Amino acid sequence: MRKKIVAGNWKMNPNYPEALELLHYLNNNIPREHYNVDILICPPFIYLSEAQKLFNRTDIYLGAQNASSYTNGAYTGEISASMLKSMRINYVIIGHSERRQYFGENEEVLAKKIKLCLQENVIPIYCVGETLEQRNANEQFDIVEKQISGALFDLSAEQINKIIIAYEPVWAIGTGVNASPHQAQEMHMFIRNLIMNKYDDTISRELIILYGGSVKKDNANELFSMPDIDGGLIGGASLKGEEFVSIINTTKNIVNK
Ligand code: PEP
Repeated sequence: MRKKIVAGNWKMNPNYPEALELLHYLNNNIPREHYNVDILICPPFIYLSEAQKLFNRTDIYLGAQNASSYTNGAYTGEISASMLKSMRINYVIIGHSERRQYFGENEEVLAKKIKLCLQENVIPIYCVGETLEQRNANEQFDIVEKQISGALFDLSAEQINKIIIAYEPVWAIGTGVNASPHQAQEMHMFIRNLIMNKYDDTISRELIILYGGSVKKDNANELFSMPDIDGGLIGGASLKGEEFVSIINTTKNIVNK
């Protein structure tokens, strides 16, 4: 059975006092009994250590939003997977569409990042998804297949077992227009089939696939109830404490798949 995950991606937000306020809010308001859902918060690097000290509970995990494709050394401004590991940060978002778009990250670089993270036992949440133009041209399946095969298919069965994939259609990120449950389910099933064809049925059945793109408390339940959707990667709504907690609460009655 796959576990459900609700993850918040704060991106490059907010400033320090606001970050502290939000962390306190989450620490105090995420229900202790949270229905078999793993909660993950991915603030900017600079707040990770503070978050770790502040959370007086072990049921909220922390993740980074990026990791270097280099191991260590003279790479000014970079943060390595081994640094994350040494800080006990167990998750990292890799290949978010904003990193692909603004920082030119391609599958070759992303494959390196993923391998370094796996070497350090930091779990990569690998993001894939098509742009609006690509969907309008009906290329979404080709694009996602290329993103997955290009960055993941060199991994061994043992390594792929540790990966989480997030399907985040670029046209749904930050736009207020989410993929419909049907569109998201269709792509999640496609991804699961890709993994089954390359690896095997068990690996594919156990793969956690999150949906991301304008998830809110009003659409979370319907999206997360779909058979191949195992929770969400939440951007904008994760910056609003109350909304994020409401999203967690919508998972209450969703059975694990
Ligand atoms: C994201 O950036 O990962 C994301 C899903 O953003 P939003 O929820 O704001 O669409």
